[in-house]
Amino acid sequence: MTEAAVTPAIEGWFTTGADPALVASQCTTCSSVFFPPTTGFCRNPACPGEDFEATELSRRGTVWSYTDAQYQPPAPYIPATEPYVPFALAAVELPEGIVVLGQLAEGYGVDDVRVGREVEVVVETLYTDDSGERTIWRWKPVVEMGEEADQ
Ligand SMILES: [Zn+2]
Repeated sequence: MTEAAVTPAIEGWFTTGADPALVASQCTTCSSVFFPPTTGFCRNPACPGEDFEATELSRRGTVWSYTDAQYQPPAPYIPATEPYVPFALAAVELPEGIVVLGQLAEGYGVDDVRVGREVEVVVETLYTDDSGERTIWRWKPVVEMGEEADQ
């Protein structure tokens, strides 16, 4: 009771630890992968499957699109600050062929990413409440802007 817990803000969408990963649902019939995790009927219209297995997605992907979120997004984005402070959002294409939206990691903005750049999943504190820290996945650039020129 004395130790503040660190728990995901959304249960079951990502793993935690040193190498966190997003958790998707994979259809056991057609192998299609869905994120966020899903239940019920397979979203592949050609597939009659209804059973899914949890599968960890690749930790790295490439930026497909990005934007400054000037308005508060709908749930599950929980405002960490009041009033709302705009942050950078990236849509990242993973090797599995799906695009996952997420905030950029703490300290990164739209000037730190470009389409096609590699990013990886990190888990950071989204907000803290009475039960402790609540975490969310974010996208962190693998190589800092300008750094590759020196290599
Ligand atoms: Zn399916």
